[in-house]
Amino acid sequence: MSFDYDLFVIGGGSGGVRAARVAAGETGAKVGLAEEDRYGGTCVIRGCVPKKLMVFASGYSSMVDEAQAYGWDIQPGTFDWPGFRGKLEAELDRLEGIYRKLLANSGVDSFDTRATIKDAHTVQLSTGETRTAKHILVATGGHPVVPDVPGAELAITSNEIFHLKKLPKSILIVGGGFIACEFACILHGMGIEVMQYYRGAQILRGFDDEARGLIATDMRESGIDICTGTNVLEMRKQGDRIWVKATNGDEKVFDQVMFATGRDPNTSGMGLEETGVKLGRRGEIVVDDYSQTAVPSIYAIGDVTNRINLTPVAIREAMVFVDTVFRGNPTPVDHDLVPSAVFTQPELGTVGLSEEDAREQEPIEVYSTSFKPMQSSFAGKPDRVLMKLVVSQKTRKVLGCHIVAPAAGEMIQLAGIAIKMGATKEDFDQTVAVHPTMSEEIVTMRAPVRTA
Ligand code: NDP
Repeated sequence: MSFDYDLFVIGGGSGGVRAARVAAGETGAKVGLAEEDRYGGTCVIRGCVPKKLMVFASGYSSMVDEAQAYGWDIQPGTFDWPGFRGKLEAELDRLEGIYRKLLANSGVDSFDTRATIKDAHTVQLSTGETRTAKHILVATGGHPVVPDVPGAELAITSNEIFHLKKLPKSILIVGGGFIACEFACILHGMGIEVMQYYRGAQILRGFDDEARGLIATDMRESGIDICTGTNVLEMRKQGDRIWVKATNGDEKVFDQVMFATGRDPNTSGMGLEETGVKLGRRGEIVVDDYSQTAVPSIYAIGDVTNRINLTPVAIREAMVFVDTVFRGNPTPVDHDLVPSAVFTQPELGTVGLSEEDAREQEPIEVYSTSFKPMQSSFAGKPDRVLMKLVVSQKTRKVLGCHIVAPAAGEMIQLAGIAIKMGATKEDFDQTVAVHPTMSEEIVTMRAPVRTA
């Protein structure tokens, strides 16, 4: 049977674009790709990239008093949001152009339209046309979800935050995960009064407890009002502001409310279940270790599968999908020891098991140190950093590394290589320190602070 394409990809985000251009450019496959919105997906258009630029922008406010403490005669200024936003939009346009060009240069046919699945080998385009393909790859990503509380429609999500005409004076951020904590820090750094409601006892559930504790302390010390054990009960419009009643009975008025309460996979109305593709409880596409769905010709990668929802993971999944399907080299996706960073201020860099998860698994030693780094100590700032290793008593392997510090994201990338290679605590000990740095502590912690 002949098809229009060897591969048709639905979704032009990090995962979809990578799979399409590698399959076409490096294996000679005939590839089509449909994207209903902007090329680059969540990461480039409304996630990692604009977020990180906002992290940079917001970081300058705290540098002024630090610079003064170092002898600079400079004064705080005001933040020009419209000016910054204009440059941000231009940068995203540029990046989207690169994504389009990468596809075109690899010989991929791009369709600027929504596509759904008609049957195991056919996609339906919203233009009314259909295309057939030997393999279909679904890489449609996810979208923010908002809890079902009265007045929730008054709030924004991370999708809208980049497009605000003007910055609010005050904001309530709801949630305690990646997005909530990152934006609490970003917006605080831009001079906004930030309150954060989190329904649990401590923000950043799932990360190492000690790291979460230090980030919460640092965020509170910087002036972010984190209220744990608290959620939104009801919201109402009050003039051009938003009145919020909390589960603890508090009533407060904010200029803006942002929900960062998780994301769900983009699978509704896609024709997936009708074709035989199995979906999980959150609507995620259920796949095997090779990203293959219950329909053998249909694969899925990235956030739509709700495995580890990170751009580099989606890209990895794309690469091994191409190895498996187009290079005759079936390769399972490796989701073990994925390093990641939360871009709070200070950042959290993490790889491997938290102390809490590791001690459920086996006897461990914990090496941990928290201190005021030289740069902020000299400036009289209270910020502390954390360097922590969780080590197996039996194999001596480092099971987890957790760093809370400025640029922890940069540090954990490098620590991640050693840990992925199976480095032991003694391998860390044998590595000579780079002095004077914060990260030298990771190779100079001699005695465990506890065993468990
Ligand atoms: P997360 O799953 O990380 O966090 C969602 C938060 O919302 C949790 O604190 C959760 O609470 C809370 N929540 C969920 N439902 C409700 C509700 N009904 N009422 C109140 N609170 C609620 O999702 P995010 O949206 O922050 O981010 C989505 C994903 O995107 C992340 O998991 C991550 O994979 C990725 N991401 C990665 C980044 C990075 O690498 N730096 C940055 C941003 C996003 P509870 O803990 O109790 O469940």
